[in-house]
Amino acid sequence: MAGAGAPAVPQAGRPAPNFDVIVVGAGIMGSCTAHAAASRGARVLLLERFDLLHPLGSSHGDSRIIRDAYAQPRYLRMVRLARCLWAAAEAEAGYRVLTPTPHLSMGPRSSASLAAAIANIGAEEVDVDDLHRRWGGAFALTVPGPVDAWVTALSDHGGVLSATKAVAMFQSLAVAKGAVVRDNTEVVGIDRAPEPDGGGVVVRAAGGEAFRGARCVVTVGAWAAKLLGSWGVDLPIRPLHTLHLYWRVKPGQEQTVSASAGFPTFSSYGDPPVYGAPSLELPGLIKISCDGGPPCDPDARDWLAGDAEVTHRVARWIQEAMPDHVDAAGGPVVRQSCICSMTPDADFVMDFLGGGRDVVVGAGFSGHGFKMGPAVGKILAEMAIDGGSETAAEAGLDLGFFRIGRFDGNPMGNAK
Ligand SMILES: Cc1cc2nc3c(=O)[nH]c(=O)nc-3n(C[C@H](O)[C@H](O)[C@H](O)COP(=O)(O)OP(=O)(O)OC[C@H]3O[C@@H](n4cnc5c(N)ncnc54)[C@H](O)[C@@H]3O)c2cc1C
Repeated sequence: MAGAGAPAVPQAGRPAPNFDVIVVGAGIMGSCTAHAAASRGARVLLLERFDLLHPLGSSHGDSRIIRDAYAQPRYLRMVRLARCLWAAAEAEAGYRVLTPTPHLSMGPRSSASLAAAIANIGAEEVDVDDLHRRWGGAFALTVPGPVDAWVTALSDHGGVLSATKAVAMFQSLAVAKGAVVRDNTEVVGIDRAPEPDGGGVVVRAAGGEAFRGARCVVTVGAWAAKLLGSWGVDLPIRPLHTLHLYWRVKPGQEQTVSASAGFPTFSSYGDPPVYGAPSLELPGLIKISCDGGPPCDPDARDWLAGDAEVTHRVARWIQEAMPDHVDAAGGPVVRQSCICSMTPDADFVMDFLGGGRDVVVGAGFSGHGFKMGPAVGKILAEMAIDGGSETAAEAGLDLGFFRIGRFDGNPMGNAK
């Protein structure tokens, strides 16, 4: 394995760990990490508690939005890095998982985060009349208050990621580079192996199996706080039950709102905070959903919690904003449950655990991590292998923003 301080170099008389990097959790983050580490020549084991590509976590389903429009420069940098890595992975796999589209941001001009997101990417402002003319008049927003109190801006950098297909792609690419993938293997504990035994970590699975690795990366999504509680780490990550909702496109408008016709992904910063993607994966349906949902225990889900309220809020938005193109009255045609793992400041957690450099955690992706998966995976793999991330440094990403310590004595972390 390349890299200064690379683990798994056996010392005389000591047993070498079986793997250089053990990745726990095979959602998008773990799968990308496994691929990035295996691409470095590391011997990688990827462990997943449930069946591969299961629908119980955060990375399953038909689509995720990718957009550059971010208020915080750190995410703009990360999404730009991720775009290069998505393209590289697609080239390696020989098929596509990302359908590029424009992206439309809209909301009250008074929203500081919307203004910053627009300014950061130099998006083109579209006035309300122009908006009504574009895309066959699909957005018929009636703006509350004076017209100039509202802002809409268009950028070229949206897109739809085919979620489950993308996770499967990174798993296949990792296996092709020699990674071992084991599903239906629940990790119940991660211990440091004693130095006399060669050091590294021992990853214990339910049923008594144990795996030895030089380094371990924990990417267990909504289960992070539970699993890492045993390290005395108090991760302030709150899982929320959230929904992907698909609505029927009104007859005759199917082509207008399709990706092939150039319809954009969109985010509305008003109340409710709605986002949507062009009709693509389910012809005749369009995905329009809303951030947020009730807190949930990933091991004891109430699959219907809060659904009626979220559905009502999105339906009301559709009736106001896209009344001629989307049928809200009939309710959503398809609903898929999902979990968002929220941190108090909506910033990710990417850090070392327990005072050493052998256990790395990636968690708390706060409902906006999928698009960044390949960048996160590369950074986590480098942290595990090298003890730091050159890729992050080259991209101008200050990993200090993602440290767990930001919450010490400051429950809101980066949000202050
Ligand atoms: C409704 C919804 C819409 C979203 N929309 C977008 C979007 O448009 N754009 C975007 O960028 N992001 C979006 N996101 C966020 C994005 O999907 C997540 O940030 C991302 O999928 C998180 O991936 P993960 O790998 O951290 O978690 P997961 O996908 O949950 O993966 C964690 C894995 O760890 C496994 N695991 C847990 N415990 C153990 C254990 N003890 N042993 C072994 N394995 C274990 C789990 O089974 C799971 O497979 C959305 C999320 C939701 C819910």
